[in-house]
Amino acid sequence: MEGSDPRKTDFIREIIDEDIRADKHGGRVHTRFPPEPNGYLHIGHAKSICLNFGIAEEYGGKCNLRFDDTNPSREEEEYVESIKEDVKWLGFDWEDRLYFASDYFGRMYDLSVDLVRNGNAYVDDLTGEEIRQYRGNLTTPGRESPFRDRPVEENLDLLERMRKGEFKDGEKVLRARIDMAHPNMNMRDPVIYRILKASHHNTGDKWCIYPMYDWAHGLEDSIEDITHSLCTLEFENHRPLYDWFLDHLDVYHPQQIEFARLNLTFTVMSKRKLLQLVENKLVTGWNDPRMPTISGMRRRGYPASSIREFCSRIGVAKINSTISFELLEHCVREDLNRTSPRSMGVLDPLKVTIENLPDDHEDLMEVKNNPEDPGAGTRSVPFSNELFIERSDFLEDPPRKFFRLSPGKEVRLRNAYLVTCTDVVKEGGEVVELICRADLDSRGGDAPDGRKVKGTLHWVSAKHAVEAEVRLYGKLFTVEDPLGVEGDFTDHLDPGSLNVLNGCKVEPSVREKRVGASFQFERLGYFMIDPDTTDDRLVINRTITLRDSWAKIQKK
Ligand code: ATP
Ligand code: MG
Repeated sequence: MEGSDPRKTDFIREIIDEDIRADKHGGRVHTRFPPEPNGYLHIGHAKSICLNFGIAEEYGGKCNLRFDDTNPSREEEEYVESIKEDVKWLGFDWEDRLYFASDYFGRMYDLSVDLVRNGNAYVDDLTGEEIRQYRGNLTTPGRESPFRDRPVEENLDLLERMRKGEFKDGEKVLRARIDMAHPNMNMRDPVIYRILKASHHNTGDKWCIYPMYDWAHGLEDSIEDITHSLCTLEFENHRPLYDWFLDHLDVYHPQQIEFARLNLTFTVMSKRKLLQLVENKLVTGWNDPRMPTISGMRRRGYPASSIREFCSRIGVAKINSTISFELLEHCVREDLNRTSPRSMGVLDPLKVTIENLPDDHEDLMEVKNNPEDPGAGTRSVPFSNELFIERSDFLEDPPRKFFRLSPGKEVRLRNAYLVTCTDVVKEGGEVVELICRADLDSRGGDAPDGRKVKGTLHWVSAKHAVEAEVRLYGKLFTVEDPLGVEGDFTDHLDPGSLNVLNGCKVEPSVREKRVGASFQFERLGYFMIDPDTTDDRLVINRTITLRDSWAKIQKK
């Protein structure tokens, strides 16, 4: 696959181009990213962040970070902080434009009074259940509430008393007076305010009526002078209501544009579902490296630039689709391949003794940090007569095409020597050590006589090795669409998706890396230092293996 074309366009950018040509909004471009602080952000949000902040950057405009915190019960400070951290980490900057929708509660209320005054809203005494019954359905028109024709003065009085807390939760609501027979159900006198005697993380107990999403969102956009309000397709049939509210008030009118939400295979992309995994301890937290959250991907070792590249490659469209998880992995691998220094580490160590070197033999091998990047320099890797290799790189009784180590066979220890296995030490039937003879004329790994040696193994010096815990991750779910198959989605979690290996042996330079640093263990994949690392404990995550299954999928 080729790199992304920076001039790539899409239907949203075409609309914006046209708006600028027509001098709509005075040529301004002002977007916003409006998360509800009720969970951590996921990769779907990353698509929206890249789109909103990306468009603002491209057009020399602005993008706000706005917390859509109109719902009193669920919002939490922890979520606000995590969202800010994730947006920053992705590489975007809201500058001084951090807003909370709850700061607009006063303005929203005043505007609802205007709506009532103009006969466009009324206080309804029907219960929630009755309102549902009166709404009708797609084939039956709704019925008008008996309270629909209350005089304006009475509505103004009741609304004021709703705000003052004179009524119980659910006793009354404020509704728009639109059309109970409207073919679009959202237009059948939607609720604007409901009574909810609940504390809010920002406004405390100041309010006991809270605005509904459709009422609040357009006003938030209008108050912030947003030009293009980009949201996902499920809001398409809310747009007539978005427009109706703004048209019936004396306020600035932004334009709502819908795009398809991102869906990914082998995961779920709903904060509610992800919260369920966290609360039921089916994962270690919101930032579990198997989670599709931005914080999980960061902890797994996905570079921010690879997520931005992924979002650019998938683009934006009007039709919902599901993207292969392998495409995301492909972007991660491509990025890490360019940027990661190489190291050696052995996950499942098997001891090797070089019989023709003395016990006190020590040597330093000068090794390239990244063969793809000459600028990355070299490092010294200690070598001695006792080494570890990967247990799976030895077979006592190998099949014909096994080019790794077996009795009597010669292999290359990468950057070190050619060695031949001369003996196998066993305890209780299990291979515990290999004895090898090194060709001492092959230092660096090249045969002096040019003879071909097919297998190349990674290794670490036993004496110098640092012990590490390495965590390997698989896909969180065993099925492509956990919500689309029978049973609860949690039934399809893969119990083998986390594999913790203790007693891994890694080259000493890995100990010098800081938390969050990415690197490649030769032949094993890309890894990063996990934040669980302390002075006496080294914890390493495997970000991704080296095998690119996306390339294979593309060739099919
Ligand atoms: P969820 O269903 O996961 O709770 P949400 O849409 O309720 O998501 P919000 O906090 O309201 O979450 O979302 C903030 C912004 O991110 C919205 O503009 C929303 O449209 C966008 N967004 C959410 N999920 C996706 C997705 N999968 N793909 C693209 N954009 C998304
Ligand atoms: Mg939501």
